[in-house]
Formats: sequence, C-alpha cells, structure tokens
Amino acid sequence: MNSLSPTAYFRDRFVPVELAHLSIASAPVLYGLSIYTVFPVFWNADDQQLSMFRLPDHFRRLQNSAKLMAFDDFNRQWSYQQFAATMNNLLVKNKIRRDCLVRVAVFVDDILQGTRMHGLPHRLSAFVYAPPLVPKTGVRLAVSSWRRTPDNAIPSRAKINGSYVNASLMKHEAVMNGFDDAIALDEQGHVAESTVSNIFLVRDDRLVTPSGSTDLLEGITRDTIFTLANHLDIHHEQRMIDRSELYLADEVFLCGTSLQIVPAIEIDRRVVGNGKPGPITKQLMAAYQTHGHGQANNNWLTAVG
Ligand code: PMP
Repeated sequence: MNSLSPTAYFRDRFVPVELAHLSIASAPVLYGLSIYTVFPVFWNADDQQLSMFRLPDHFRRLQNSAKLMAFDDFNRQWSYQQFAATMNNLLVKNKIRRDCLVRVAVFVDDILQGTRMHGLPHRLSAFVYAPPLVPKTGVRLAVSSWRRTPDNAIPSRAKINGSYVNASLMKHEAVMNGFDDAIALDEQGHVAESTVSNIFLVRDDRLVTPSGSTDLLEGITRDTIFTLANHLDIHHEQRMIDRSELYLADEVFLCGTSLQIVPAIEIDRRVVGNGKPGPITKQLMAAYQTHGHGQANNNWLTAVG
C-alpha cells in the first residue's frame, strides 16, 4: 500500500514515514494501548487553498480519549495551538494539493510494561494518506452477528486502537458474506453504528440516528449532519432504533470522516426504499460537499499555509 505521504510525525520530529516504527514489544502492538482520530483535509482548487476540517473538534476528541484512557501527560503537554501548528507543518512538508486524511495517534511509548497504564510516556504520531474509494451510489449492509463492545467494557466515546478488533470482526463477517459493511447492534439489540461510521435513517421525512448512549462513537461527521440538517430545515432526532426499523426505513446512510456520507441501498438482502439514494440523503451529501462554505455561524475550516 503506497497511498501514504512521504513524511510522518513521530516522537517529536518529522521523519520519512518508512522510519516511523514501533517495537514488536511495545504496548500499542501488544495491547492496543493507543488512541487516535482521523481528520479530513480538503483542497479547494478554485482558491488554491488546503484546509483542515473541524480540527478543534478532532483535538477535543483526542483529549477526551486521552482522559478516558488516563493518558494524562498528553493533555498536559499538548495545547491546541501546538497541535494545529504540527498538523499544518505535516501537510506543508508533504506538499499536499488534494483531498486527504490525517491519522493522528497518541500511543504508550514503552515496552514490556504488561497492561500497566500509569506513569508511562505517551507520544503523538501522525501521517497523511489518500481517502478510500467509496461507492457513492450506495453500499449493501448486513446486521452483524457480533455485538458492539459496550461502553462499560471499552469506552465507546473514546477512539481506542484496541477496540477496533470488534469492528474488524464485524467487517470481516460482512465482507465474507458478500456485503460491503456491517451494522452493529448494542447488547440490548438496538442499532448502534457501522464499523467505522455512524448510521442515520429516514422514516416519514424524519432523520433519525441512535442516541449517544447506545454504545457508539459520537462521530464528528454525525454532528456535522445535525448542523447541515438544521440549515436545511430537516427534522432530526436521536433515539433508540430497533433492528426492524432498518428494514422499514425510506432511506439509510452511513457517515464518517473517511466515507463522508454514503447511502445504504440494501440491508440484510432487503432493498432500502426504492434501492436508490433517497432525497434527504442526496440533499445532505450535496451540503456536505460544501465543507462548511456558505453555512452560517460555523468555522469548520482551518487554512493550511
Ligand atoms: N463510529 C466508529 C466506530 C468510527 O470508527 C468512526 C470513525 N471515526 C465513526 C463512527 C465516525 O466518526 P467521525 O465522523 O468522527 O469520523
């Protein structure tokens, strides 16, 4: 895979990405003790301007993940200003002039400490990569036989590398069964999210998404959808969603940093709506493409340069 940009940030300096290595005896490799976020970067060809999307929100989520995982030195050592400057420099050094994603991790930088978490050093790493190709015409989904890891096993609001074993098992099952991705139910059987994205459905012109207490990651794109829906006068609500509602929905879509907004056209071999992206989904996809330009009262873009 060579979609990685050449320069990474690792252990307080910029290095060639192929030299940014962790030991096989390190805590992130052995126990998944690392947290992360992925933020989108958009290239505006008309203005010849590169911008980072919702950077303060991504930093806040990284801080929250650090707090949940007791990575306290990260929150003491890194200010938003320092973070933003480092991300800016990473993009400048890589001479980025296209849409891309930046993956930032904060990891336990120690070896052979077992599952211990206290008193260990944490370091930030970041690299730039190309967004995946997502079929914008729609994806086929399957409800997973695996349940979403509950919040009281691994905190759902944190993005913890180790917890993605759960997502990987769900995705594997879905792909092996001929689907594009999986839908995760929580322990009670309510719809939670997909493997790396949140889920919305439309029933009777109302946009519905599982509430934040349904074992899900409170995605930043999910929050973007709320703002876009407000501007478009689309009624939206957060509540518990039953599995059977997935099959009766007029529209279903997934949303997340790497997928952006992608319609679901089939779930468990039942056609969603008329099998084509629905009108509310299309409206939100178009609004998302403006990346906040033209939206009143927001300040989602941080210019790179
Ligand atoms: N849920 C999970 C499990 C995810 O990994 C992601 C991707 N970060 C999302 C939802 C969507 O979050 P965001 O919109 O912040 O990318």
